[in-house]
Amino acid sequence: MKTLRINAERLWASLMTMAEIGATARGGCNRQALTDHDKTARDLFCTWGREAGCSVSVDAVGNIFLRLTGRDPGADPVLIGSHLDTQATGGRFDGVYGVLAGLEVVRTLRDHAVLPNRPIEVASWTNEEGCRFAPAMLGSGVVAGSYDLAYAYARTDKAGLRFGDELERIGYRGALAARPRPFRAMFEAHIEQGPILEQTATTIGVVTGIQGAYWFDVTLQGRSCHAGPTPMEDRRDPWRPACKIIEAAFALAQARAPWGRATIGDVKVSPGSRNTVPERLVVSVDLRHPEQAVLEAMVAEFRELAAHAAAEFGIGLQVDQIWHMPPTTFDPELVAVIDTAAADLGYSHAKIVSGAGHDSLHTAQFAPTAMIFVPCTGGLSHNEAEEASAADLAAGANVLLQAVVAVADKET
Ligand SMILES: [Zn+2]
Repeated sequence: MKTLRINAERLWASLMTMAEIGATARGGCNRQALTDHDKTARDLFCTWGREAGCSVSVDAVGNIFLRLTGRDPGADPVLIGSHLDTQATGGRFDGVYGVLAGLEVVRTLRDHAVLPNRPIEVASWTNEEGCRFAPAMLGSGVVAGSYDLAYAYARTDKAGLRFGDELERIGYRGALAARPRPFRAMFEAHIEQGPILEQTATTIGVVTGIQGAYWFDVTLQGRSCHAGPTPMEDRRDPWRPACKIIEAAFALAQARAPWGRATIGDVKVSPGSRNTVPERLVVSVDLRHPEQAVLEAMVAEFRELAAHAAAEFGIGLQVDQIWHMPPTTFDPELVAVIDTAAADLGYSHAKIVSGAGHDSLHTAQFAPTAMIFVPCTGGLSHNEAEEASAADLAAGANVLLQAVVAVADKET
């Protein structure tokens, strides 16, 4: 099985066929979860799966599982998965690549009439993007137990349509329970969605984990007054500590390069008048790092310096935690399997951390999980101009194939 290679042309052709479903005028895809386009894409995926000799099952949250049996049909399967839904102005590769690379692995095994010891399953997780129904990664999140099914069904889109009703309408509320089953491993191939692989001319990113994140709203309460008559020393201007806090957030992320991140994505200024010292600022702060201990240290440092800066200028301070996503560390054995596969295939490869969330974040809760990244042009994603080369996509799928086989073909 070590000599097996995927069919690069078939993989590319399948990606391009899938990209026609919900194709946008600017070359991207609008295939949001549980729309008619999503149904068409799901139907095609199931048809392709049956043609490749798989059985198809659908769970209660609409996750689809293709299953190729193994020589030992009772062994815990190796799972490959990602998502077929896209952003409203999404690209042709985010998610769909991981699903169709999984299908290509199955097709390749079928071409050569070889069955690994363990069954192989290819999953398409429901509503990964979260743009129509928040939160993101909902289908895998329900299986992992992060959300319950009733919560998922009750999500509504902007038009007030319920997730549960839309799932029923497109015919994908399945009979399988949306809860964990035993899996030997879960692999997800994905475009990087960042610039590192391209900038370092690396074909394969061996993903060791997913960054953790904290979101805060920092409220700074001062006193509004006239911009003209009020001497500087008589002001309680919330911008004074805000400048220090924002600068310090950048500095504490920079001090933890290359993985520390700090983003000030939004500032609300009240009352928001050009000739009035503001009464109040609400500054959004997003801090990220792949290691929990480092992330916690960043947060502690941030809280301390915020308190210090506010006190220095006599400004009221409130730091509200809005959201926290703990870092995910992928299974070391599977990371090593991917590393070895990339090396054996002769592809340039390097360890990398995912800056974005993926279904693998949830599957890691119930199955040993790891990811494979391939470059995308300019690091651009969640954009209709998203682009990846056929050669890189084929390389990633070959690494996926060899990693899957390495785990699936071991005697149980
Ligand atoms: Zn994705």
